[in-house]
Amino acid sequence: MPDSVNLDNISIVLHQPRFPENIGAAARAMRNMGIRELVVVNPENFDVVKIFRMATHSAADIVKRIEVYETLREATSSYHYVVGTTARLGGQRQLIKSPSTLAQKLIPISKENRIAIVFGPEDRGLTNEDLHYCHELVNIPTAEFSSLNLAQAVMVMCYEIFTVSRESKKKFAPRLAARHELDGMYDQLKDILVRISYINPENPDYWMNNLRRFFTRMELRAKEVSIIRGICRQINWYGKKRYEDGLREKKDQM
Ligand code: SAH
Repeated sequence: MPDSVNLDNISIVLHQPRFPENIGAAARAMRNMGIRELVVVNPENFDVVKIFRMATHSAADIVKRIEVYETLREATSSYHYVVGTTARLGGQRQLIKSPSTLAQKLIPISKENRIAIVFGPEDRGLTNEDLHYCHELVNIPTAEFSSLNLAQAVMVMCYEIFTVSRESKKKFAPRLAARHELDGMYDQLKDILVRISYINPENPDYWMNNLRRFFTRMELRAKEVSIIRGICRQINWYGKKRYEDGLREKKDQM
């Protein structure tokens, strides 16, 4: 039997959209393709009349259930797999997939994991910092002019995700670490690596970006994240113990 993406585990996340019409048109595109969860982060104008007008009656349910967040970090925190979409290539954006390759990859992952597909603001797209939250980057191939209208980009992605199918080979798809577990791990790693002077406290993000890229490639599972966090805790404990032993020795010598 052909295997397909579990659409119940897919959410569309619009990061800082400027125009309510695009939010409505995105909801309608989702409805056409059977994707129901819409998340909006810090919208510039959340005019519900304009949103509903573009969504039309058919997608009204999706609009009523929109979840609104202040930051991308909060919005993605409960997801296990986060995909960013970008019109721009190059720079830090090397590992980019096509929509259909990504859709194939989501077939096994979506069985057990919640997936967010993130879209940037109309004028400037996702920043490099926003991309930190993404496991994967996707570009929709175009002719020379690469920037699609936001809602049309949502449509292309939803269409690919809806139409992809594969003969099932029952591929194993483990439960991946949720975004909030990864972010907690990165905060803890940054703290400990600064304290043991592995990274420069003046510019910790430079090194953390390398580490993030490395761990992102691994697609860490929840259990693996808790192992890394356990190692950080132990380093912390050991450092503290050595410090206290040192103080005691000094006292004994006095
Ligand atoms: N000027 C911006 C484009 C913003 S378009 C830039 O250069 O990045 C708004 C959003 O639509 C983008 O952030 C992205 O999420 C999506 N989008 C537009 N064109 C796309 C393309 N060719 N491939 C993938 N996503 C695209």
